[in-house]
Amino acid sequence: MNNAEIKAKGEKYCMNVFNRLPIAMVRGEGSYVFDADGNKYLDFVGGIAVNALGHAHPAVAQAIAQQAATLIHASNYYWLEPQVRLAELLVENSDFDKVFFGNSGAEANEGAVKLARKYAIMQGHPERKEVITMKNSFHGRTLLTLTATGQDKMHKGFEPLAPGFVYAQYNNLAAVEAALSDETCAIMLEPVQGEGGVYPAEPAFLAALRKICDERDILLIFDEVQTGIGRTGKLFAYQHGDVKPDIITLAKALGGGAPIGAFMATDKVAAAFNPGDHGSTFGGNPLVCAAGVAVMEYMLAEDLPGKALATGEYLKAKFAGMIDKYPFLLEVRGQGLLLGLQLAIPGADIVKKCLEKGLLINCTAGTVLRFIPPLNISRAEADEFLTILESVFREV
Ligand SMILES: *Cc1c(COP(=O)(O)O)cnc(C)c1O
Repeated sequence: MNNAEIKAKGEKYCMNVFNRLPIAMVRGEGSYVFDADGNKYLDFVGGIAVNALGHAHPAVAQAIAQQAATLIHASNYYWLEPQVRLAELLVENSDFDKVFFGNSGAEANEGAVKLARKYAIMQGHPERKEVITMKNSFHGRTLLTLTATGQDKMHKGFEPLAPGFVYAQYNNLAAVEAALSDETCAIMLEPVQGEGGVYPAEPAFLAALRKICDERDILLIFDEVQTGIGRTGKLFAYQHGDVKPDIITLAKALGGGAPIGAFMATDKVAAAFNPGDHGSTFGGNPLVCAAGVAVMEYMLAEDLPGKALATGEYLKAKFAGMIDKYPFLLEVRGQGLLLGLQLAIPGADIVKKCLEKGLLINCTAGTVLRFIPPLNISRAEADEFLTILESVFREV
């Protein structure tokens, strides 16, 4: 089938919830993807910050093929070596002691909230049920994580929402203090708001949140579903500073495209869960964990976080030059290869023009061009991206 045929069938059979561009992706190779009509695109969307090693990376493809021919699934009634190995890689390279595997970012966040409520009970505070999240955040699409997401426009039509969430302005300590109550069990936030428009948290804000949580013995949860696994130039975004959260959630890049989510906690916090408290049929299955092991081993061996940091700095410097030249470009935000270019105009047209020139980019929050390519893009690919992007800017 070609692009038009796939689109027509998709419109007939798939639920109409995505704003899709009129092309169908059929193949990928490194930093490039190909559509059903044979067009080639440089991929600065990277499956929404998922394809950290690029497309069809042999390390990941071989790990999946080999595991598929060995054992895809057996359930969590048994120990599973790929799951245990991935847990070891995550724990030994972070400040956490225990991992739980689910299947998506939303599930990881739900699990984190469950753990926070159980922790409060363990500490003798069963009245603590409430989680403070940030306005303009994104935590997922299930009813609980949709509620955690501090954006009214996404809530509309899905009431009644899950109880137990209050919202505070991001980077605004007074707003968090006003939202605190005797019922607060956790504060949850993204170290860089991704879907919300690429807004990094200020280090002083994070430090103040850490202090509040310590004083009250409540939990600080970082949603690193987008920022984790090398994206911002460290394996985990929290490692840029000295604030350590109690729980961290992961998904997107962890499986290199295989659907996986995870949350990690310190032993002190993880002790609140007992057998039967949480679970998942597919979570941590050998197939996706083999993919995760391949991603983690390659990422650590090749220092992809370091490469992401260097490429990100290179792009930021080039964006600074463009901001001086084009008045509709306001500022660049973000770190590593999670970069946002704030526009003074809507970005949808720029995305479409880039697509026509063979470049995939994404616009989030209406006016922010977001760049989340594979972490291993070469300097030549970064330059190709800059050339196409600037040729579109010249036409605006
Ligand atoms: C993508 C994302 C999620 C949701 O992940 P899903 O796998 O789509 O459920 C949650 N939090 C953040 C920060 C995200 O970027």
